Amino acid sequence: MSSTTSLQRTIFRTVVLIVIGWVTIYGSLTASILFSRGMSLARQLVAQRNLAAAYYLKAYFTPLRSTAEFLSSQDIVRNLPRLGLKEREEVLGLYRALEAANPDLYYVYSGYEDGSLVINNYVPPPGFDPRVRPWYTAALGSAPDLSPGIPYQEIKTGEWLVSISKVLLDDEGNRVGVVSIDASMERAAEFLRESITPYTTSYSYVVNPRGIILIHHREELLGKNLSDIIRPPAAFTKTSSPFEYRFEGVEKFAHYTVLPDLGWVVVTVLNKSEVLLPLIHQITMGFLVVALLAATSGWAASRLLTRHVITPLATLQADLERVISGAPGVPLADYPDNEVGQIAKGVEQLTRTELYRKNQALKALNTRLEILSTTDPLTSIFNRRKLQEELTREYHRALRYGSPFSLILIDLDHFKTINDTFGHGKGDEVLIWTAEILRTHLRSTDIVGRWGGEEFLVLCPETRLSEAALIASKLGKEIARTSPLPSCRVTISAGVVSFSPGKSLEDLLKEADEKLYRAKGSGRNTVIV
Ligand code: GH3
Ligand code: MG
Ligand code: MG
Repeated sequence: MSSTTSLQRTIFRTVVLIVIGWVTIYGSLTASILFSRGMSLARQLVAQRNLAAAYYLKAYFTPLRSTAEFLSSQDIVRNLPRLGLKEREEVLGLYRALEAANPDLYYVYSGYEDGSLVINNYVPPPGFDPRVRPWYTAALGSAPDLSPGIPYQEIKTGEWLVSISKVLLDDEGNRVGVVSIDASMERAAEFLRESITPYTTSYSYVVNPRGIILIHHREELLGKNLSDIIRPPAAFTKTSSPFEYRFEGVEKFAHYTVLPDLGWVVVTVLNKSEVLLPLIHQITMGFLVVALLAATSGWAASRLLTRHVITPLATLQADLERVISGAPGVPLADYPDNEVGQIAKGVEQLTRTELYRKNQALKALNTRLEILSTTDPLTSIFNRRKLQEELTREYHRALRYGSPFSLILIDLDHFKTINDTFGHGKGDEVLIWTAEILRTHLRSTDIVGRWGGEEFLVLCPETRLSEAALIASKLGKEIARTSPLPSCRVTISAGVVSFSPGKSLEDLLKEADEKLYRAKGSGRNTVIV
């Protein structure tokens, strides 16, 4: 069985190795494709969202900027310090109309070099000087263009506002004041805070070209320099570009777009982990599916192999073992119609004919040899060689277990005379007859054999001396009582000995011989114990 089980193991191991190879190759290919596709898709989403934010801001601010441009070109606004109260009321009316027309416009107002302020619904505190306000100085700094948007959070409401201002020039080109618009940024800020579907960690924010954070949903970051808080530091050298950075230990995909009109840079970010985790999940699922498929096909392959090759081989091996142990021709199992089946047929033929015949002949010969080597050819009882074997075994048994045994050494009396009188042939017959008498009158457990010429030895296991003496005299009487020869009595003399621990086997046999000799000396037909 060992060779087929090792074959099975080899096949199983090979299949498992192939499966692992498959999973590794397919898995890493899929993983890398999924990974790069997932990543580029995420980057694309971030870029799209960033562009949308840029368009949103642009669209949001264009009307505001046009309004500021429009006001700065109005004569009544530019020349107001030189005009009367009626004109001032007219300008206030214009501002009010604009505020009413666009709900995102909170305040429309203008300040002048003479320190006056024209505004609706607002009472400036005492000592208020428009010329030092940020919206005023910003307009001066950007003259003759519009000032960039300066977002700020309303102190009282927390609302996001932004001012856009422009310097006012009189007809001679002298700077006379600044017109400004304060607009709500709420809707824009809300748009910036929104995440890209399906992610939740994405948002946009605004910095100026130097990196100062202008709009961000986290108040504590406002006014900070982006380059101080992210790694690597940001640099907005292009109009629009992807970049990546780490902030507060979180890796982010990012994309920025520069809005030159506003002097803003809008940045959109997305946590990498939010892209990676579903990807890893997807990749793991892919791995599992491939592993499952590969394992199933591997299992099916090994089952097929087992059914068509390994099991028939194992059966063939078992059949062969039966033949080797001498069973008659192999009853052919259901072998498949393949190479194994062909071999099985060949083996069957071989065993049914040649091998089996030779095996049977050999067995018969062996049996015969065994009989020949242990049997006396004349009397068909055990020969001296076999007797010696049995004696040795019994002796050792007695030594080991202390079981008794006895020996009876028997010699035919005056056998030479029998030979001389009746001829050698009759002598042989007497020997055969004696052996038969001994065999039939002994117990089945006793062992009898021809010790030599006309001498016989009886081995009586589990028998003490007295018992053996009885057996010997019974045998003597039986032989003397019946005779195979006309008008001639056959008698035996016998020496009986018994095992005792101090004696060797040779001692015992010598003692039996001595007793037999004594029996002869005391007139024969005697048992000496
Ligand atoms: P004792 O009573 O003292 O034993 O006298 P004996 O004649 O029986 O003993 P002895 O040793 O003088 O003679 C044994 C004879 O047995 C001699 C031998 O020719 C004969 N003999 C030995 N083997 C065979 C045999 O196989 N066949 C025959 N027919 N005779 C045998
Ligand atoms: Mg003799
Ligand atoms: Mg004799």
